[in-house]
Amino acid sequence: MKLLTESAVNLSHTNPSVAKEQAALARRVKLRFNVRLDPSFGRFTCRGCKNLLVPGVNARVRLGHGKTTVLRVTCTDCGHVNRKIVKRPYIQSEAARKSAS
Ligand SMILES: [Zn+2]
Repeated sequence: MKLLTESAVNLSHTNPSVAKEQAALARRVKLRFNVRLDPSFGRFTCRGCKNLLVPGVNARVRLGHGKTTVLRVTCTDCGHVNRKIVKRPYIQSEAARKSAS
């Protein structure tokens, strides 16, 4: 599983069509055996079209700044924006330190 996704990500840089097939295969294997992907690979899958998402190949990654930092991964295949909240504890502690002084 891990190997399939890894090679799919690597292949996407050189051979996108093969990578797509491999990602689809990895997804089928995942569904059949009901295994969960390694959490680190979760960000490589689009929630809209379930395709392989590789930043710089078929995805745009933008950071949204606010109270919480949001990582927005836009899929160029279907246009779905995959949002992910990035926890930045050190920013909070920095703010706490500023307000204390
Ligand atoms: Zn998509």
